[in-house]
Amino acid sequence: MSMKSTAVPYKIYLSEDEIPQSWYNVRADMKTKPAPLLNPGTGRPMSAEELGVVFCEELVEQELDDTTAYIPIPQEIRDFYKMYRPAPLVRAYCLEQKLGTPAHIYYKFEGNNTSGSHKLNSAIAQAYYAKKQGLRGVTTETGAGQWGTALSMACAYLGLDLKVFMVKVSYEQKPFRREVMRTYGAEVTPSPSMTTAVGRKILEQFPGTTGSLGCAISEAVEVATSQPGYRYVLGSVLNQVLLHQSVIGLEAKTALDKYGVRPDVIIGCAGGGSNLGGLIAPFMGEKLRGEADYRIIAVEPASCPSFTRGKFAYDFCDTGMICPLAKMYTLGSSFIPSPNHAGGLRFHGMSPTLSQLYADGLMEARAVEQTAVFEAAELFARCEGILPAPESSHAIRVAIDEALACRESGEAKDILFGLTGTGYFDLTAYQKFNDGQMSDYIPTDEDLARGFAGLPQVPGQD
Ligand SMILES: *Cc1c(COP(=O)(O)O)cnc(C)c1O
Repeated sequence: MSMKSTAVPYKIYLSEDEIPQSWYNVRADMKTKPAPLLNPGTGRPMSAEELGVVFCEELVEQELDDTTAYIPIPQEIRDFYKMYRPAPLVRAYCLEQKLGTPAHIYYKFEGNNTSGSHKLNSAIAQAYYAKKQGLRGVTTETGAGQWGTALSMACAYLGLDLKVFMVKVSYEQKPFRREVMRTYGAEVTPSPSMTTAVGRKILEQFPGTTGSLGCAISEAVEVATSQPGYRYVLGSVLNQVLLHQSVIGLEAKTALDKYGVRPDVIIGCAGGGSNLGGLIAPFMGEKLRGEADYRIIAVEPASCPSFTRGKFAYDFCDTGMICPLAKMYTLGSSFIPSPNHAGGLRFHGMSPTLSQLYADGLMEARAVEQTAVFEAAELFARCEGILPAPESSHAIRVAIDEALACRESGEAKDILFGLTGTGYFDLTAYQKFNDGQMSDYIPTDEDLARGFAGLPQVPGQD
């Protein structure tokens, strides 16, 4: 709904001073807080002390803080943000015209940095707190490679050592991603590997496995907790990551407010939930406080449907079952999407914060098939000029569908979606699509039952 009639430019730029001074913590306004992380050994909530073995001290504080609404962004992080932010908010005039829709489509573009995605927003924050704590380095996992790239950029900037466990299939399929990380000084190991106990165990159990995010997380955590001066960092799912990503939504809201635009629908792709959590944060805050209402839609792949077909239950975040348990929508930690799945967003679980909001009926979710996603990506690339990441294209798909529905109904809705990144390292997937060799695989109920069978027994959970 637009309040003013001032013509909105193609790009709404903000000034450097309009980069947020604080992150917004949506948990502060939630009536039902996300369930705490549990120690898998004792079944009790993880204490700050226990979490501090794995994560940096200040990040543990942020992880556990569900009452402070605004957390100041340290000056050093804001200075780094200035190199690639504010990110543009674009009015998709060309796409609107192509679709013949009366809807107004806006997207927040987070692909304007070398990592090619929003992940740098949290990478620099996490690396900063590790450095501040005097650590030597950090370990992490990466799937498609965007997180590993973002973190390697942040660690290079701050002079921290970085060990990345990269899902083996991506390591082999995306050699150039690996090279970017190495150029920034990261050590990259294909996962599962023989360098960790958990990696050796997984390889023994599943010889020839091409790996998963869950395996890579287990290996990265093992290395972080067994070497002095190291901690583990994670690029999505956790509360702290959603907190850092709130810069996306805060900037988007500032830009829209300049033109009096209040989005009717807000759409984002959901892997672990960090970009969506960040994009919706200030809008969800208004909704939770009863100040405004928005329709919010999470979009996930039909081949990895944690929101739409998962269970809201405590589960492991990793395959090796060494990480804390999180209560989230999950397909089970042993779930691995079909090998023909090319569109990213392949994590088995979902952010506990978004999971709680979804359980409370504050947002919707939709699952889309990958051929439809790449059709949307192609249409978008041809009229908006940006080659979108397959992950982002999930959001494009639903934004287009919503705009087409407006064409039918004649409503001039304002649609905002998150364009999380660019797809230059995903050209193997585009190639498959262009060659007509992309197919859809939707897991059967039996496939999903196998994943659910591995859910841990937690007292008080059926
Ligand atoms: C990692 C990634 C995602 C999905 O992660 P979330 O934590 O769900 O945001 C989406 N888009 C791009 C480009 C990514 O790199």
